[in-house]
Amino acid sequence: MSGNEARLQAIYQITNREPVAVSMPDKLGDIWAEDVFNLARMEWALSKNAFKAVKKTVQTGVPLDPATADVVAAAMKEWAISKGVKFFSHIFYPMTNITAEKHDGFIVTNADGSAITEFTGSLLIKGEPDGSSFPNGSIRMTNAARGYTAWDPTSPAYIMQTDNGATLMIPCVFMSWTGEALDKKIPLLRSNDAMNQAAQKVLSLMGETDIAPLNSSCGAEQEYFLVDTNFANSRPDLLLAGRTLFGAASPKGQQFDDHYFGAIPARVQVFMQDFEDQLYKLGIPAKTHHNEVAPGQFEIAPYFEAANVAADHQQLMMTLMKSTAKKHGFLCLLHEKPFAGINGSGKHVNWSVGNATQGNLLDPGSTPHDNLNFLLFCGAVIRGVHKFGPLLRAVIASAGNDHRLGANEAPPAILSVYLGDQLEKVFHDIKTGKLIKGEGGGVMDLGLDQILHFERDPGDRNRTSPFAFTGNRFEFRAVGSAQSVSGPLVAMNTMLADSLNWIAEKLEAALAKDSDQAVAVISVLKELMDAHGNVVFGGDGYSTDWHKMAVEERGLKNIPTTADALPALREESVKELFASTGVLSPVELESRFEVYAEQYVLSIEVEAKLVVDMAKTMIYPAAMRYLSDLGMTGASMLDMGVELDNSIAKTVADQANAMMSAVGKLAVAMEKHDFSSTEEHMQFCANDIRALMDEVRSHADMLETEVADELWPLPKYQEMLFIR
Ligand code: ADP
Ligand code: MG
Repeated sequence: MSGNEARLQAIYQITNREPVAVSMPDKLGDIWAEDVFNLARMEWALSKNAFKAVKKTVQTGVPLDPATADVVAAAMKEWAISKGVKFFSHIFYPMTNITAEKHDGFIVTNADGSAITEFTGSLLIKGEPDGSSFPNGSIRMTNAARGYTAWDPTSPAYIMQTDNGATLMIPCVFMSWTGEALDKKIPLLRSNDAMNQAAQKVLSLMGETDIAPLNSSCGAEQEYFLVDTNFANSRPDLLLAGRTLFGAASPKGQQFDDHYFGAIPARVQVFMQDFEDQLYKLGIPAKTHHNEVAPGQFEIAPYFEAANVAADHQQLMMTLMKSTAKKHGFLCLLHEKPFAGINGSGKHVNWSVGNATQGNLLDPGSTPHDNLNFLLFCGAVIRGVHKFGPLLRAVIASAGNDHRLGANEAPPAILSVYLGDQLEKVFHDIKTGKLIKGEGGGVMDLGLDQILHFERDPGDRNRTSPFAFTGNRFEFRAVGSAQSVSGPLVAMNTMLADSLNWIAEKLEAALAKDSDQAVAVISVLKELMDAHGNVVFGGDGYSTDWHKMAVEERGLKNIPTTADALPALREESVKELFASTGVLSPVELESRFEVYAEQYVLSIEVEAKLVVDMAKTMIYPAAMRYLSDLGMTGASMLDMGVELDNSIAKTVADQANAMMSAVGKLAVAMEKHDFSSTEEHMQFCANDIRALMDEVRSHADMLETEVADELWPLPKYQEMLFIR
């Protein structure tokens, strides 16, 4: 079947597709967390003492003693085997955005040839995957980068059901033999610790006596596209790069705004139900789903959970989304910009910190005292975003997200904080000294009443801000849809820890001078706002005025590409941040720079190769075939004495030639390997390679609008976006 026939066949087949039949359980209660070895299940399966020990480990992270680990392992195995499971796997989260697994059987054979099942505490606690197959950046230590996995009891084990059987999955950290973090989980756990310690200091200074451990929470909204597999299979770019590298704009795009919250197509509806039932079985609280702005784009948001669990669940969700979509005849695209010219996909990371005694510290609360705590934590976030804006930009940097940030649909590549009118006014008043006045510096009007009556949902949400306060949490909106949420969470927790440490120091001094708590808090916040208030911005983040003002007047950075963003990980202030909080050592941080830089370069190289291949083997031949058809028709028309307008032939020939000349330049550029530094290599990809890819594409997309439809080999935008 030639390319264009495949495309026409695909349209035919899709038009005749029916939703895949799936069995739908009656009640949520029947399936909720049925495949999770959670605390409830452990309480049932373990002795009282063993359960008490495990619960303490789960809730506080203290290590489990080996004897109890054996008991837990045995119970876990019994439960899994009773559900038909034969294998177990340590699942871990390497520095890529995907997960890794190593599967082992429960089976062991005896000397007499009989087989028994075995799963000991030590097998549960520790595994040894071949560390050298995972990116480790500069951490190439003596043991040839061998690494090991260790059970993270704070994230529940679960059973992964696939068509090829069921496996007991054990969430793990992944580290080198020398103890360096090789994954995304260790820094997240450490950042949570650092935040907890700093928050404890501030809360005790505020006179709190009973302070439970603080934890960060995360609820991530995930956007994605679904494209029918019949189309996707004819698009090497979608299959290998996850985005279209070619494609003329559809005559109809998203300009009618008729997709957002519109009726969900039947096949997609069935996919969503199937997907969500699997999430429920895994104890993942899927809560909302709807169409997104672009045609073919959707969103799912689970209810928020402890950050560490949410990060594991988010990763699991991405895996399941792809496999379930396949079952329903879709390719699920998590790429940030699968289609040029229409909205891309993001992941809104909603984040807050709190504990069992003081509650959510980013919630204004209901007493003036709660308000003061809230103001301190909120101020700490403002300081963090200002001081570490480039770090926040670096942790959301990827080749995919570069297409989105700064385009007029996603937050700009300038990190600012949106507080909403009311709260912005409070912080503004603090900054200008309006909140402290009166004789002898007493507190006249703290404006706390304003916050007490704070509107939870300030109606007019600012969707143009990359970092917005939304009533009881911050929402980091600039995160890419394909990215792990761990990087952003680590950065946010760590910058918060740093700010809370700073606040604790200042507050202690202020309290020593003035015993009035409110006065002390406001004076610290005034100092904070004087230094960092510039990052607060409530206006239109898309406007060119803001881009100018942010950089020229406010001193904020506009960091357009990953090549510009990643070097922040090498800055002294960032090294100092991570080292002082104990979240990442300089070696660990450097290894992350190297791994992310390499991923960036590799993904652009893959795309560039595809551009060359597809232009040469698919697009150019289609153009030539059309020219020859035109030539033949032209010749026969001339035979009949009809004068022919050959402007189309000329356009096609010109565009085809121009495209091939750009392809030639791109191929030459891709040969370049002599870079003096990783930074230089990244810049070359960001500027030279990307520009040449765009040049090839512009001619190819012109050709698409000229060449006869029946000859065009690649499914077109309007087909992929509107037929399902
Ligand atoms: P939006 O209006 O931004 O689309 P959604 O309801 O779709 O809001 O998603 C909001 C996300 O924020 C959900 O995952 C929700 O559970 C989460 N969330 C709500 N409160 C908190 C909180 N205190 N901390 C962290 N996440 C939260
Ligand atoms: Mg949101």
